[in-house]
Amino acid sequence: MSRKIIVAGNWKMNKNAAEGRALVEALKNGIAGLEAAEIVVCPPFTTIGSVVEAAEGSPIGVGAQNIHWEANGAFTGEISADMLKTSGVQYVIIGHSERRQYFGETDETVNKRLVAALAAGFTPIVCVGELLEEREGGKTEAVLAQQIRVGFAGISAEDAAKIVVAYEPVWAIGTGKTATPDMAQQAHAFIRGELRALFGNVADDMRIQYGGSMKASNARELVAQPDIDGGLIGGAALKADDFIALIREALAL
Ligand code: PEP
Repeated sequence: MSRKIIVAGNWKMNKNAAEGRALVEALKNGIAGLEAAEIVVCPPFTTIGSVVEAAEGSPIGVGAQNIHWEANGAFTGEISADMLKTSGVQYVIIGHSERRQYFGETDETVNKRLVAALAAGFTPIVCVGELLEEREGGKTEAVLAQQIRVGFAGISAEDAAKIVVAYEPVWAIGTGKTATPDMAQQAHAFIRGELRALFGNVADDMRIQYGGSMKASNARELVAQPDIDGGLIGGAALKADDFIALIREALAL
């Protein structure tokens, strides 16, 4: 079993085309020697084109922050697999907690988006994670189990091998509060157990990222945990120096 560390920057609603290009140019200069990590950036839709151009010829992968399950039609504000594919995208974030909290995303829509992303050949990054009140109410495992069972319904073990899971405790996202390495490891091990129940041994090859205020100062101890295979990064992905420092720490360099 060897799982390559994957560190993905979720730029959220930040960076126009010129800013995105500049960030990728700066990242390209800083990633020499970091080939042991798979590095991905996920800009907003309108920034994807300039980022794909800037990343060309570099190991930086480009992802989108959403995908719709229909091929086209009357779905204002949504984006199709073909639109992303022809823009040069290789990864897609699905079910981020902000989509769940503010835009009505459910485990059922996560499942539809996941099926569409796999059919189009993307590497999906599927986000799961509990709210603070759910953790405090002792419901973390039940919530994660539900998100995984429904979100991954009908997916074959062969396809599951292509999926990256991001465990993002909602109370840790953008708050500066990070799960302790032990707390995160416990959740990751639980998630891997759920994946094993669904997909058998394939679960041992699936990458599970941690997300929630990960930064250079805590990345090393988090990624050192046996079931943590990288990070999904918000705030610390918006400046090249921060992101590169974080990747170096994740690789224990
Ligand atoms: C995220 O948006 O996925 C995230 C983890 O954000 P932050 O790193 O800012 O907490």
